[in-house]
Amino acid sequence: MRRPAASARWVWVPLLLVAGSGAQAAERRRALIIDIDGVRRDTFEQAYQAGTLPNFQRILGGALWYDRAESVLPTVTMAAQSSIFTGSAPAWHGIPGNSWFDRTTGRLYDYVSAGTAPCLYAFTLFGGGECREGLLNRHLLAGTLYEAAATAGLTSAVVFHPVWRGATRAVLPSLTDGLTLLDGNGLNFEAFDRMMAQRAANFVAFEERTDILTVYFTGADEIAHGHGIAAQPPYLATVVDPLVGRLADALDARDRDWLASAMIVVTSDHGRTDAAANPEDRTLSRDLAAALGRAGFAEGQFRVAANGGMAYVYLKNGEEWEAMPAPETVDAVRREILADPLLAKLVLEIRVRQSSDSARWGDLSVFLKPSHYFGNTGAGSHHGNADILDLSVPLVVVRPGGPAGHTSLEARITQVAGTVAEYLGFPLGGAEPALPVPPT
Ligand SMILES: [Zn+2]
Repeated sequence: MRRPAASARWVWVPLLLVAGSGAQAAERRRALIIDIDGVRRDTFEQAYQAGTLPNFQRILGGALWYDRAESVLPTVTMAAQSSIFTGSAPAWHGIPGNSWFDRTTGRLYDYVSAGTAPCLYAFTLFGGGECREGLLNRHLLAGTLYEAAATAGLTSAVVFHPVWRGATRAVLPSLTDGLTLLDGNGLNFEAFDRMMAQRAANFVAFEERTDILTVYFTGADEIAHGHGIAAQPPYLATVVDPLVGRLADALDARDRDWLASAMIVVTSDHGRTDAAANPEDRTLSRDLAAALGRAGFAEGQFRVAANGGMAYVYLKNGEEWEAMPAPETVDAVRREILADPLLAKLVLEIRVRQSSDSARWGDLSVFLKPSHYFGNTGAGSHHGNADILDLSVPLVVVRPGGPAGHTSLEARITQVAGTVAEYLGFPLGGAEPALPVPPT
């Protein structure tokens, strides 16, 4: 009789422990997303391996590295950032790129232009009501991670990221910040990153309870656009890494279990390619417009929205932008583009919009061959191409108690939101499934 009793007790105790720790862990689960704009996977990983990122090492000790992680097409910021935080591809979330033409309003948007970028952060001074909730939030057609979290009763905070719809708290640069961040040549992105981290640390010090915290570093992208990829490792080491340390300190000070109980995701929106001289790139836009002219489209009858290594071409159908042009018209345009010797040499692929595609797609999507870019001056670096350099991103995930090391399982940035939602235990409709986890 004693044996069964002991056996029952033996079973009962661990079950209680498991249930107890499970409930505790469920109570404390959080997610920290560190989003570094425009850093290719090898750049980040080499800096990490070289030991120049001690603060990332501090938080990524138990991390799983997705060695084949990729971005989406086109490989530009607003399309890809929207993919990270909706968990869906641009065809679904509706942000086709940094630049696109809205057929319903007849407006060409360029989110990263000096005139429009402030509208992403809800500065309404020049943009009016359209900017009030942030232009990207307004344009997104898919639900966000934060909206789904809120529906499940969870809270979220987003610091300086242009996608924050549904977040409990959006910590955004103020107008005064914006003026502080301006220098003679535009925005000072290092100052932007420093201010972002300071605001994040301040927020953390006083937050009541935040289930999802997103912080966004934008300076690495900017510095590489200007000075090439070689400028990124020093920037990551001397600016981003210490700021991550500061944030980790703030989280530790708030709750020394915060980081230990959190899923931590470090990722980027796209990779990049160092600029090649390619002098023929300089006339690409002009050549494209000339080909459209030869196909019978006068100025005003078409719009071109360039996104680095690709461009959308929108064709007016008579007086209508919204009516799809006849297939033979699109085909004629395609033929004229490829009849241009330079374009024929530099174009990788022209995709024709189908009626089932997004209404925000161009009638034609013109993808350039690797290392060719619209607007390439031969200096710095670019992205927006369909090749692996621009698609490649770091995707590093710490799941408390989960697998660590490297995996060659396929992974995309569209799976980040689903992964966070799964960890925190809420559904994310329309999103791609969570990242795969290798068998242990
Ligand atoms: Zn970017």
